Amino acid sequence: MSKYDIIVLGSGPGGYVTAIRASQLGFKTAIVEKESLGGVCLNWGCIPTKALLKSAEVFDYLKHAEDYGLSLEKADKDFSKVIKRSRDVAAGMSKGVQFLMKKNKIDVIEGFGKLKSGKKVAVTDKDDKTKEYQADNIIVATGARSRELPNLKQDGKKVIGYREAMSLEKQPKSMIVVGSGAIGVEFAHFYNAMGTDVTVVEFLPNVVPLEDEEISKQFERSLKKAGIKVMTNSSVESVDTSGKTVKAKVKTKKGEETLEADIVLSAVGIKTNIENIGLEDLKIKTDKDKIVVDDFYKTNVDGIYAIGDVVHGPALAHVASAEGILCVEKIKGMDVEPLDYGNIPGCTYATPEIASVGMTEKQAKEAGYELKVGKFPFSASGKAKAAGKSEGFVKVIFDAKYGEWLGCHMIGAGVTDMIAEAVLGRKLETTGHEVLKAVHPHPTMSEAVMEAVAAAYDEVIHI
Ligand SMILES: Cc1cc2nc3c(=O)[nH]c(=O)nc-3n(C[C@H](O)[C@H](O)[C@H](O)COP(=O)(O)OP(=O)(O)OC[C@H]3O[C@@H](n4cnc5c(N)ncnc54)[C@H](O)[C@@H]3O)c2cc1C
Repeated sequence: MSKYDIIVLGSGPGGYVTAIRASQLGFKTAIVEKESLGGVCLNWGCIPTKALLKSAEVFDYLKHAEDYGLSLEKADKDFSKVIKRSRDVAAGMSKGVQFLMKKNKIDVIEGFGKLKSGKKVAVTDKDDKTKEYQADNIIVATGARSRELPNLKQDGKKVIGYREAMSLEKQPKSMIVVGSGAIGVEFAHFYNAMGTDVTVVEFLPNVVPLEDEEISKQFERSLKKAGIKVMTNSSVESVDTSGKTVKAKVKTKKGEETLEADIVLSAVGIKTNIENIGLEDLKIKTDKDKIVVDDFYKTNVDGIYAIGDVVHGPALAHVASAEGILCVEKIKGMDVEPLDYGNIPGCTYATPEIASVGMTEKQAKEAGYELKVGKFPFSASGKAKAAGKSEGFVKVIFDAKYGEWLGCHMIGAGVTDMIAEAVLGRKLETTGHEVLKAVHPHPTMSEAVMEAVAAAYDEVIHI
């Protein structure tokens, strides 16, 4: 039986990053994967969706070429080529992980892994052959899949999840998107930009409900301006797929409504892959669909750890990677601190983009802080005007007493690349005045951060 220092189960951004860090630290490492290296993120999540959204953005530029003094006979798209480009990008990224595994001398074991007692993993390959491997430490990073609601069963054709949504052969004429979290609105934006008639149904009062309320409101306005129908405080009660189209019964505050569309996309969250991997046999504790771990990702069973989407915390690729790195550094005996879950950035890559970190204004008030809040609109930014992208704003929230940067919320073009400034600033306990004295380059979208901070301290220049 092959013996390793560390075996990682699952090769998503949690698993493969964990394996690389383990190998860097001198551990003999293997990774088990039942599908494609790179997990959901590279194959069915972060990367292929961003490829689709890039096609949507380019198409949008082409359609508005005249706004930039350019002319074009007719902007058109080939839906199947757009999908193919996205799939090719994903395949290329997965190959990249294959290269990284080789470079870091990590053994890749193909097949479905199951934990066994005695710190063993049994891997069953596609020919149904099972082989056992042993390790001093096993890290579970088996991720998640699209969550199914009982009244919204996915048949993969008319009621679909995110995998089908990024690999449809034919563009639907109309689509109902259930759920307005990041995944839902990214697809809503993509399909709307491609010319599909899109309706978003959200159970809660606001779209992108985890965001600061002002961001949600601005985003809802943008969705509507783009031609997307938005129904908040509404829930899909049932779907009828017996006809050519899907009929969805939607409960709203005003009563019941029936919507009709070619396809319903269910984007109501995730379900972790924790079944049949041996958790029960080993008596590993779970809670509300997640594996229970301590601050350094150790389960209640010695030598077994879990990271990424299978544990509590935001289900994001960068979180999975950070957890995995920390987990193996702790196993190595390094002097590491637990992850600061209060300083995790979250991004939505629709148009406009959304990026945020830290507390919303409501959360900061509820926590009892006295606040200094500043906002700077992109309509007052030279760079945004020049780019024809003046929608949105940056909002910063500081504690009035000690100047702590409590939260930063952005909506607009390119903000997902700007949020790292706030993450780093908060990590270094930067005060508002320090941000103000850090000269930002002109003209850039990032000046809006400095100006928003200036607005919080009544020193704003350009509004
Ligand atoms: C449409 C979509 C868009 C997204 N966009 C973003 C984004 O822009 N930014 C962001 O941060 N996050 C995004 N996410 C979330 C992100 O993809 C996940 O948080 C991330 O992939 C979690 O990483 P993970 O390593 O925990 O698990 P996963 O990426 O799910 O990987 C788990 C891997 O384990 C394998 N596996 C499962 N069970 C077994 C087993 N028993 N044996 C062997 N292998 C097994 C699976 O095949 C899979 O490859 C998106 C998700 C979706 C669905």
